[in-house]
Amino acid sequence: MTTLLLKNARLKDDQELQDIWVEDGWIRKIGKELKEPGERVIECEGRVVLPGLIEGHIHPDKAFLEERKPNVSGTLEEAIKNTGELKREYTYEDVYERAEKVLNWAISKGTTVMRAHPDVDHIEKLLGVEVLLDLKKKYKDKIDLQIVVFPQEGILKSDGTLERMEEGIQMGADVVGGCPYNEKTLADSHAHLEIVFDLAEKHGLPLDLHVDFADHTEDPRYMLTERICDMTIERSMQGRVTLGHVTTLGSIHPEEASALFTKIAEAGITIMPLPATDVYLNGRNDEKNVRRGMAPVLHMLEHGVNVAFASNNIRNAFTPFGNANLLLIGYLLAETQFMGSADQQRSVLDMITYNAAKCLGIEETYGIAEGKKADLVVFDTKKLSDVIQDQPIANFVIKAGIVIVEQSITKIVE
Ligand SMILES: [Zn+2]
Repeated sequence: MTTLLLKNARLKDDQELQDIWVEDGWIRKIGKELKEPGERVIECEGRVVLPGLIEGHIHPDKAFLEERKPNVSGTLEEAIKNTGELKREYTYEDVYERAEKVLNWAISKGTTVMRAHPDVDHIEKLLGVEVLLDLKKKYKDKIDLQIVVFPQEGILKSDGTLERMEEGIQMGADVVGGCPYNEKTLADSHAHLEIVFDLAEKHGLPLDLHVDFADHTEDPRYMLTERICDMTIERSMQGRVTLGHVTTLGSIHPEEASALFTKIAEAGITIMPLPATDVYLNGRNDEKNVRRGMAPVLHMLEHGVNVAFASNNIRNAFTPFGNANLLLIGYLLAETQFMGSADQQRSVLDMITYNAAKCLGIEETYGIAEGKKADLVVFDTKKLSDVIQDQPIANFVIKAGIVIVEQSITKIVE
């Protein structure tokens, strides 16, 4: 039996400090001045304790490529093209080393759950899946990893991709990915959607698609959200579909998009903005009043849509920034989506905790409550509404009741 006691944790801004007692990896008791025995006792002194952060969408296989081939035009097209060329040179060791660095950075920032999207196509084949499956085993006590088979190069225009996605699932991948905009015609984008929905249904897996990643509505290959809502409802996949980017929604007037927001909520679809990439690649043809190029977070939340957000890329042609720190991405989202009030800043934290847990299908065991898994982070700040703007370090990261990261408390030396 292993036990851990956290004293005086700030769990809510409008509630007294609480103690959390953990036994064998699970939260057994929460309350004031608990007397339960703790082999390890952490005095939080009023610091914020959150459930482990969830990186719901990231590409560890293509991280740290920014210096090999920079994206000169800054467009999505060039990002896909440059990365496609670099993929030809990948070796197992190269991908492993870069992906492992992403995992280590994420864990040190308080992330305990991650959904990774390795490319599966005629170039990278199943190398990214293979590496991530190996890392999933190696890091099983530090981070829960879900692996998506992601057809970055399209399915109809990339030979053998569907077969490789099938194989990736047989190897142990957890989620079916998709990238329907990366097909030659609208008919092919529609066929791409049929294929990934069929694959998800056949294997009983959730779907996580990259869609509608544009800043205008002119190309119908980037206007697929409504169709996906219909397909989700028809196939009874409510609650099991996630859409990443969906930035096109930001270029539709909110009144016009209102019915669609309601439909997204009805279909139980999670929308996953990827701010660091969305802001960087979109708006490239605007010479003035440059668009922010993001899905409209506040309007979607008002309509009851489950919204999460994630890092997407770490230092490559899609996003030359990033350190796998979800709080940093949260700051970018809060600023660009006008989410400045204390309540709104707290809701930004919900997106990388509870909302993301819903998206990843782990909400039953996730969170800070008795009977939940003890994945916890102690942040070096005293109010939840300050977490995004303080950008605190994670003093303690706790995975299944075990302290896996310890970083000293900030102190100015006298
Ligand atoms: Zn992505």
